[in-house]
Amino acid sequence: MPPSASPKTSAPGSTSSLRAANESRVLNVLRTPTDKGAHTQAELARATGLAHATVSNIVRDLTAAGLLDSEPSSGRRGSAVRLAPGAGVVAGVDFGHRHVAVAVGDLTGTVLAEERVPTEPEGHVMDLTLAASILERINPGVGPLRHIGLGLPAPVVNNVVRSSAIFPGWEGVDAAAVAREAFGAPVQVENDANLGALAEHRHGHGREHRTSVFVKIASGVGAGIIINDELFHGADGTAGEIGHLTVDEQGPMCRCGSRGCLETYTSSEHLLRLLGSRLPGATFPEVVVAAGEGNLAARRVIEDAGLRLGWALGSLLNLLNPGIVILGGAAAQAGELLLEPTRTGLRRHALASVAETPIVMSELGDRASVVGAVQLAAERTDLVNAGT
Ligand SMILES: [Zn+2]
Repeated sequence: MPPSASPKTSAPGSTSSLRAANESRVLNVLRTPTDKGAHTQAELARATGLAHATVSNIVRDLTAAGLLDSEPSSGRRGSAVRLAPGAGVVAGVDFGHRHVAVAVGDLTGTVLAEERVPTEPEGHVMDLTLAASILERINPGVGPLRHIGLGLPAPVVNNVVRSSAIFPGWEGVDAAAVAREAFGAPVQVENDANLGALAEHRHGHGREHRTSVFVKIASGVGAGIIINDELFHGADGTAGEIGHLTVDEQGPMCRCGSRGCLETYTSSEHLLRLLGSRLPGATFPEVVVAAGEGNLAARRVIEDAGLRLGWALGSLLNLLNPGIVILGGAAAQAGELLLEPTRTGLRRHALASVAETPIVMSELGDRASVVGAVQLAAERTDLVNAGT
């Protein structure tokens, strides 16, 4: 049973944080499908390791808050407990360089409805009004909207955007507070590669692995890291910046101020720039099609990008030894064209013990970040107070 991915919402060790953590443990068990459609309180106590009295109190409170249905049957410990059908919904919003995706899910993280809309790269890239209108349109309205996960292609520390590269004017802004006004529900902001990692871990290729790495290759390159079933944030929340590992000291200048970062070789923007004169105006999917049809320049730039990616992954895998590496973002469309050189690069630069780590394309494709945003919202520990 994966524990909650949510960061702390109150001081660690306080009575309220312990209470929220225990509620979260109970809710996590209830998210797991069961043949009977419900769990008994005795099963909840066994699965969470909590005392029967604690479970009983939590079930009583969550039932009163409308989150659970609890039917007394053969004694309290035998009573059947399940998530209430009207317990409410959560939402995920994913802002990219050229799209906004919105999804609504139930409290298990299962997506009920979703929509993806292309946006102008030079336009309002974090158009909260547009996202809120999509959400209003697709929300099936089965109970209150309890929480929203919001994904951004930027470093995020405690809901605050830490780079102005993609979202000019947002650096240093508490995006959750601004978004809460627009959506009318509590919001948690997270880096989009982290959300992709969470989504693949719960619903995709990462399911069978307690430790995994998700690399998102789009106009930027970033990684989300799952260690022991939990998102790894690092001390401040910026772990996973694989795009800024140096793969050539003398390489081109990067937007971070360093030289020869992986991102300067592997981002989709870089590939399009390299192909500018040969495939003018091409989009990344068109480059993939051209490569598949034998265009040598297109094949070459994807191959080079894969070799460098494999090199950077070698360092990461030597350190972390994940069970699987999952590639997402625009790169996921390249399939074997990118995977093969990436594996070659990895074999050249990783220890033999990790060189054969499976590298696969994202199972969730371009939905990964928005599915992860729904999951993040569903796993909040403070659902009880949200949306009421
Ligand atoms: Zn860099």
